[in-house]
Amino acid sequence: MTMEKYYNIKELNLKERRVFVRVDFNVPLKEGPDGQFNVRDATRIVGALDTIRYVVAQGGKCILASHLGRPKGKPEKKYSMIPVGQKLSELLKKEVIVTEDCVGDGPKSLSHRMRAGDVMLLENLRFHAGEEGNAVDFINDLAKLCDVYVSDAFGTLHRAHASTEGLPRVVKEKGLGFLVERELQFLQPLRDNPKKPFGLVMGGVKVSDKMGVLEHFVDKASSVFIGGAMAYAFLKARGKSVGKSLCEASQVELASKLLKMAEARNVSVFLPVDHVVTPEISDTKNVSTTSGEDVPDGMMGVDIGPKTVQKYRSAMSALETLFWNGPMGVFEEPAFANGTFELAKVISSLRALKLAGGGDVAAALEKSGCAGKFDFISTGGGATLEYLEGIQLPGLKVMEVSKR
Ligand code: AMP
Repeated sequence: MTMEKYYNIKELNLKERRVFVRVDFNVPLKEGPDGQFNVRDATRIVGALDTIRYVVAQGGKCILASHLGRPKGKPEKKYSMIPVGQKLSELLKKEVIVTEDCVGDGPKSLSHRMRAGDVMLLENLRFHAGEEGNAVDFINDLAKLCDVYVSDAFGTLHRAHASTEGLPRVVKEKGLGFLVERELQFLQPLRDNPKKPFGLVMGGVKVSDKMGVLEHFVDKASSVFIGGAMAYAFLKARGKSVGKSLCEASQVELASKLLKMAEARNVSVFLPVDHVVTPEISDTKNVSTTSGEDVPDGMMGVDIGPKTVQKYRSAMSALETLFWNGPMGVFEEPAFANGTFELAKVISSLRALKLAGGGDVAAALEKSGCAGKFDFISTGGGATLEYLEGIQLPGLKVMEVSKR
């Protein structure tokens, strides 16, 4: 099983130790009228609480580290971790010290002065270029804060950065936090051996971004349901008119290749049979629904239509496993969100194991009110897609241990 390759946090000795936990606190912030920043969505902070509380309960000294935004290797107030620390402190009902810098004498001496159960949040790792550069000096500076390393930022494991790959390379005692462990518990069986019949629902914009996942699953899926802008590349590959829907020639080529692969393996590929169309993406007044699968000239497809939802519904009923990546339309705009939300409801009512992830679909499911009906929604974007594609994630590879 998955966890044979890794220690989990429960197998580590945390008591009185400085436990460096790499979390994903890359949360959206908003600036108030007073010029102060506040956390706009605390989902990612909430996602790390189990691990943090466990470290505290075990009497560890919990040192949290994350990146926030893209500050380009130097401090910038709008990317400071201070508001994150405030939110975390509220959620934990406990003092959280936010350090002035993530490395150097300040955090080092604080780390030694911490008492069992204290929580400290390091300032943004990306205030130093060494983080993204995976630089030896920066890794060594982080290592001075750390007796034990816990990896709990699943969404960053595809990046070989100092805090995700360099540091766990030099720290001997290391293990996975609860969030990463749960991701693997769902994603590994999905990747390697999903219970069949298995259906894959793919949407979003670019076939190229999802090609690896599609190729990986074309051997395992019995059906693939396509929506979103990428549907137009597939429809065009099948000779349909797509009007002025988003559709690049290179994507059509990829779609055509995939259709051939699917056909050779007897995988059914379902494409939209009707569309919500508009003359411009910004025009929510002149919206109509096509009667068939062709998009008229001068119009662009921005959502799947009701017939498509019904068609997908009947073809999904017997599935044992379903994985959903990518919205069916421009769901951020209420006039173009129906297809995504209706399909979310259809999927919610299936008895299949329902999994989702890899980008915007988590936000779409939240908005549709169906998130709670899914068995698992991955917290990763690129990391989830790469993992499912079978690519080795550097931040995971480095956590492998020999348990014998
Ligand atoms: P991705 O990151 O590839 O999963 O794409 C997600 C984005 O695809 C969302 O922001 C949607 O607004 C967008 N999208 C989905 N369907 C369409 C469409 N038919 N036309 C343009 N954009 C779309």
